[in-house]
Formats: sequence, C-alpha cells, structure tokens
Amino acid sequence: MVLFFMFPIRPAPVYILIACIVLLTVILALGAGCINTGAPAPSSGAVTEKPLPYTGNYTPGEIARLAGNATETANASLAAIAAIPPQERTFDNTLGAFDRTMTDYADATLVLTVMGYVSPDPVIAQEGMEAQETVTVFTNSVYSRKDLYSVLKNQSPENAGEARLYNVTIKAFEHNGLALPQDRLDEVSALKANLTGLEAEYSANLNSDTTAIAFTGDELAGVPRLSLATFDRAPNGSYLVTTKYPDYIAVMTYATDSGTRKRMYVADVNVQAVNNTKLLEEAIVLREQIAYDLGYDTWADYQLDGRMAKNTSNVMAFLNALKEPLTGKNQADMAGLLAIKKELDPAATTVDSWDVVYLEEIQKKQQYDYNEEEFREYFPADTVIPKMFGIFGTLYGVRFDKIENAAVWSPDVQLYRVENTTDNATVGYLYLDLYPRDGKYSSFMESSIVKGREKNGTYSVPVVAVIANCPAPANGTPSLLTMYDLESLFHETGHAMHDLLTTAPYGTLSGTSVAWDFVETPSQTMEEWAYDPQVLVSLSGRYTNTSEKIPQDLAEKAIAARNVGIGIQYSSQLAYALEDMRFHTATGPVDVTEVWNETYYEIKGRPIVNGTHQPASFGHLMGGYDAGYYGYLWSKVYALNVVDTFERDGMTNQTTGLKFRNEVLSQGNMQEGTVLLEKFLGKEPGTGALYGFLGIQQPQAASDTT
Ligand SMILES: [Zn+2]
Repeated sequence: MVLFFMFPIRPAPVYILIACIVLLTVILALGAGCINTGAPAPSSGAVTEKPLPYTGNYTPGEIARLAGNATETANASLAAIAAIPPQERTFDNTLGAFDRTMTDYADATLVLTVMGYVSPDPVIAQEGMEAQETVTVFTNSVYSRKDLYSVLKNQSPENAGEARLYNVTIKAFEHNGLALPQDRLDEVSALKANLTGLEAEYSANLNSDTTAIAFTGDELAGVPRLSLATFDRAPNGSYLVTTKYPDYIAVMTYATDSGTRKRMYVADVNVQAVNNTKLLEEAIVLREQIAYDLGYDTWADYQLDGRMAKNTSNVMAFLNALKEPLTGKNQADMAGLLAIKKELDPAATTVDSWDVVYLEEIQKKQQYDYNEEEFREYFPADTVIPKMFGIFGTLYGVRFDKIENAAVWSPDVQLYRVENTTDNATVGYLYLDLYPRDGKYSSFMESSIVKGREKNGTYSVPVVAVIANCPAPANGTPSLLTMYDLESLFHETGHAMHDLLTTAPYGTLSGTSVAWDFVETPSQTMEEWAYDPQVLVSLSGRYTNTSEKIPQDLAEKAIAARNVGIGIQYSSQLAYALEDMRFHTATGPVDVTEVWNETYYEIKGRPIVNGTHQPASFGHLMGGYDAGYYGYLWSKVYALNVVDTFERDGMTNQTTGLKFRNEVLSQGNMQEGTVLLEKFLGKEPGTGALYGFLGIQQPQAASDTT
C-alpha cells in the first residue's frame, strides 16, 4: 500500500532515459488481483467547477497547518465510519465514505506536497517535503486500523464497480498486515513510519542539492552558445554548471575536453553520496524487516503481491530474458563508439562513461548527418506546446485553453483548462511548469493535484501538474527543445491525460491510481508520437520565423538517429531494474555501491567509475519505485502494443484515440490494466513488440511473460 507518488527520477547518469516520476495519489497502487466484471457506467451528472486548489504563495507554517487540518478532518470522518452501528451500515456509508474521505484528504494535501518539488522558496519547499512525510505516515496508519477494516470487510458489493472498490480497498488493508496480532501490527506501523522519514529525507536532499562545478570558458569549449548563456557565472567570470538536466546534458554532449566531461560525470554520480547512500542502505534493511514481519521472504515479494507481474520470479524471468540480447546490443554500440573515438585519438583503447553521450552525438552527425543544435532551432517551446496540445486534442477530443493571470507558484508557470470539443464541458486543469529553478525537482515529472471522482451527484474534475526541466530562454533566445525534451513532454502529458480523462467514480481508483507496473503505459505510449515524422514536422516552427517548418529530411534524420545508443540506453535500464531487484530481494544489510558495481559489470562488461555512488541519486528507489523500477520495461511492452494499433490505424486517428480514451485512459483502476488493454487491443499484449523495438532477438524460452 502506498500513497502518493510522483514519478520523479533523476536522469540516469550519462545514459539518459525517460524515467520520470509520477506523484500519484495512489492511495491504493495495488491493482488487487481479484475479480472485476465490468466497467462502471461513465458519470452522467453535471461537472463541478471547483475552485482551483492553488490560490497563491503559502506563508511559513501554513502548509504544516493545512496538512494538520486535513488529517484532523479525515480522522473525524474515519471515526464516524467506524462508529456506525452494524444494522445501519451500507456500502455507501462505509466503503463509499472511506473512498470519499481518502480522496478529500488527497485533494487537500497533494497541492501542499507538490510544493516540495516546485516551490521557489526553500522554506516552503522544505515544508512541502515534510507534508509528504505526514501524509504517508497518516495513510499507513489508516490502513493499519482493525476497526475500519472489519467494518469495510463485512460489506457486500452489489455491482461491478462496487466490487472493484471493495476488492482493492480490502486488499490494501490486508497487504498492510491486518492479519497480524495488534502488537506486531504496531511494530510494522512504526517501522513504516521510520521508512517514510528516510525516504523523505533522501528526496529532500536531492531536490535541495546545489552541486555546481566551476569551469572556465576554455574548459567548456564546444558547448553551444545557447547553453552557455543559461549557466550562472561566478564573480571571477567562470561558469557555474549544476547537475540539473539541461546543464548536465549540454556539457556531456558537447564539451570537447574529456577532463571537463569527467568532472561533470563524477560530480553527477556523487550527488548526495555520503548522506543518501546511508539513507538508502538503512531503508533497505527496514524494508526487509517489514516484509519479514508481514510474512514475506523479501521486500520484492511483498511489493509485487497484487501487481500485474504478480511475483518476483515473473519479474526476474522477464529481466533475465532481456539480459543476453541487450548485453550484446550494448557491446555492439560501444564498439561503434570506440571506432569513432579512435578517429579522434588513435591511441584510444576504451570508451569511458563520460565519453558516451559525446561520442553518440558525433555518431549522429557522421552516420545520420543529424545535428541536434540545428534541430532545436525549429522547436521553440512557445510554438511546440500549443501544437503538442493540438495533437492530444485531436486524438482525445479535447482542447486546451490557457487561463491568463492564474495564481501560480512561479511567474513562468502556465495554467490550462482542458475541455471536451463535443460539449465544451471542462474535463480538468493542467499546470505546466517548464523551466529549471533553484530548489525545483531537476528532471521531468507529473503530479496529480486533485483527483477526478463523482461527488454529490456531479463529477469533480481533476487537476494535474506537468513539471519539466526544458532549457530556459536566455538572452533573447527562446527555449529551444531537444528531441529528449519533446519525448519527455509527450511522456508527462501522457500521464496527465491518464489523470485528466478519468471517469472513474471513485477517487482512490481514478486516473493514475493504478498498479505500479501499469502506470507507465499511457506515458510510454505517448512518447512515440514525438518520433512520428508527420507529427514531428507539425510541431515545428523555426524560432526566427515560426511559419518555417523543419525540413522533412532533418525530421527524418532526427527520428533515425534514435537508434544511436539504443542498446546502451536499454541495457542501462535493465541494469537499474536488476539493481533495484537485487537490493530488494536481499536478506541482510546491502552494500548498495558494491551491488551496483557488480550489476553494472555484469551488464556493461566494465566496473563503475571508481569513487562514484549512483545509488545515492537513484530517486526512484526512495520515491515509490522500490522493487518497481522494472515497471518501465514491463509497461513499455504494453505501450508498444498500443502504439502498434495506432500505427496501423494512423497516429492521429481520432476513432482509435477515442477508443483508447474510453477503454483505457478513462477507466483508471476500475479494472485491471491487462483487462483494459485486451479490450483495446482485441488480444493479449505480447513481449515481441519490445524485442522488435530494441532490434534484438527474443530468446526461445522467453515467450510472453507479461
Ligand atoms: Zn513516467
């Protein structure tokens, strides 16, 4: 049982992948493996236009007070549910009321906790992170209450929707240890509270990290003028380069001096090395103890119970099947990079970690005649964003209207109202926070802020935030997006649409509140639109003259260049998934640096760079993806099956888009993901799509494990 996650993740060192975090209000991110016999009827009532939850800057102390009030209100409602005399209990005044209470609580607190990731004020950001800890501890305590459990358990659902709510809710209680005697349950609750504290501290350390490396102009030779203009300057004139994504990637891609790239790389994989390594190792031991107390052999066994993958051995079979073909693909990619390095330096015998992105960029130019700096000129954010919303609008029958003068947490944040094109009804609201800021989460993420659900006979519309780190405008030049930025924006907006288009009646089952290994399906599906030639051209408009589209051949080169390093990228993704599973299938203290070193060696064929500490900034492992990182690859299988359908019907085919909206996105967790997908696809999703995408051979024994 979890509550409330984002999909934040720091970009993987050097090998950059989309691996965002979603701040889920997943009160029940479980996807109970139980019956589900049909979707609920879509809400037919009117839509509630609620006031937006963010109304202006918080004052110091206000977030703590509001979080405290929300907890008090929720506790009073829960006490009222537990106190209903047995003869007066109905499904609605027990399970229904429980769902409403937990969703009201999420609606009151998500806006507070998201401040931990976006507030420009360090005091407010700190209070936001503390509120997240409060919320997680509270939620754990709720699902540990035997009085509530016994009231809820004794109800009888009367239709498919009620049955789903009943099964998922009861499973969440039972997963949290309700079968234990009270003293052991109390012990588990205390351990979980400690764990939450460690996780919050780890995340806060990353968000508030101010690592910056000083470089002279000479040391940054090769880095484009546009990027240099965005770096801070020290009084002596040197450039201060942070480890935030746009800074980091500009240096790793373009700095000609390998010493510069090495310093940058080492700084990045040493962010919070001392503090966070210790916190992660402590968390792993606590998780082992909790899993053991709850009757599971390992934390992974505990986490996977109720997920789509079902158990540890299914996950390991899935990952292990990818190992040999992906390791081979990685070696082939690295051999290609070595050949390029030898052209620059005939004495070179190895490719170092800090060479990879740099050499890949050269490879894109040499083999694909592709220059990303030329590409970026055609993708100014102000031109791309409305066009991207237009693509989502066409597919899903909605439009995005910008609301001027809205209350936002930073002047560069935008707010959109999302409306149905058919009846103009408001579907929800989307905050768009595009650029890096001090104290802001450093990569890409999406967060729910208000959950969609039926309320008082109407539909209460969802509110979401897309939080990005696109290159900031500087010195009169607008924000010019890279292919990675485009892919990431489609990915996060994919999560946002999952939240926005929900029609699930219950807030605890709506939007992205689905199984962890399904949640990345809509997002990883939508990434692929950035790589469709027609879509890509339609998004473009050169910043000097926005009516000038990207030349077709440059767009095609950008798409073809995606193949550069795909084996390196996905073998890294596999290494991270294995690292996570090894941390969380252990039965004793874990030296995370050593396990990472062994795993890296096994997949990459070389040791990690001496003295680096990647686990200290692997934010997923302390942000809800523990024993869950495999979910990216697992969901990618589902996503690629969906994309196949769109490729067959047309990437902007509205009939198919609306079908995906109605049969998958709108459903939230009202049915299991596989059931929704099979309805949409008309067949079971197969892993062959992933092997095909990666250009690797599927081992005979590894037929469809998903
Ligand atoms: Zn994501």
